[in-house]
Amino acid sequence: MPTTVRAYAAPSATEPLVPTTIERRDVGENDVLIAIRYAGICHSDIHTVRGDWGKIAYPQVVGHEIAGEVVEIGAGVTSFAVGDRVGVGCMVNSCRECENCRGGLENYCAKGNTGTYASVDRDGTITQGGYSTHVVVDKDFVLRIPEAIPYEAVAPLLCAGITTYSPLAHWNAGPGKKVAVVGMGGLGHMAVKIAVAMGADVTVLSQSLSKQADGLAFGAKHYYATSDSETFRTLASTFDLIINTVSSAELDINAYLKLLRLDGTMVNVGAPPEPLPVRVFTLFNNRRSFAGSSIGGIAETQEMLDFCAEHGVAPEIELISADQINEAYERVLRSDVRYRFVIDTATL
Ligand SMILES: [Zn+2]
Ligand SMILES: [Zn+2]
Repeated sequence: MPTTVRAYAAPSATEPLVPTTIERRDVGENDVLIAIRYAGICHSDIHTVRGDWGKIAYPQVVGHEIAGEVVEIGAGVTSFAVGDRVGVGCMVNSCRECENCRGGLENYCAKGNTGTYASVDRDGTITQGGYSTHVVVDKDFVLRIPEAIPYEAVAPLLCAGITTYSPLAHWNAGPGKKVAVVGMGGLGHMAVKIAVAMGADVTVLSQSLSKQADGLAFGAKHYYATSDSETFRTLASTFDLIINTVSSAELDINAYLKLLRLDGTMVNVGAPPEPLPVRVFTLFNNRRSFAGSSIGGIAETQEMLDFCAEHGVAPEIELISADQINEAYERVLRSDVRYRFVIDTATL
């Protein structure tokens, strides 16, 4: 018997989210039933419910930054016990057989991973996300949340954290490396904190200096306004790695690429809907690379959580109640959030 649980759902692409109930599947042999305590609001949630990334089925519950407790486990689950503090991020399944899955990179599953929401699940139903009191997830896609990370702040690590940790780790951010973070929003502030914890020399490139005090408090050594063209002259051929968290196609991508030193890489984690006009000649100089990165595998997500616990890294959050979700969406779209909204799901 599926369980009926409380949730907040989008009834259509144009209407505000509303309180509702949804069904969660029975706890199968390899499943974990999680009582959700906190759910982060990611910009992707808004793009998805508003149909910006394509048609979806309604009503739709979004949310892929989930923190909660195990309340029931299937007969085949030995890795989790009732009462464990756990998390769920952007995916809840994958094929498990392709080269990428076998290599622990389920996020790059050749058949496409199953998203935590608005994806077709194995049973043919549409997955429903974390703005809900409970969720049933296969044990292999459940993360262990270390006690050292504040419970109400941990959820954004499951998307914003891993999205920035993975490219920083892959491109070897660390001592002696100069890393620039473009944009100081939900993703950007995590990129700064994680890169600093990895030991890199971190620079923030933001439109204005309005968040400079925060950036320096998070450990960045330098902070520049990109609205000032002098910034691009000063920083020419400087960085080993640039993490671009901005999802606007209006960003002058070639101006940023010129900030890479020899063998430097610019990695996009923001997702502009339009193509970016990269000049190949800019890549010739300094043998530069232009790359992308999408979340991280399950093992790497666990590694990121453990790393954050060990280094005292946690997202900056604003805790809200469910009736503030629609207002929070408008504020995210205005970049008026420092730096992530988290829903207290007890208010659903
Ligand atoms: Zn996200
Ligand atoms: Zn696969």
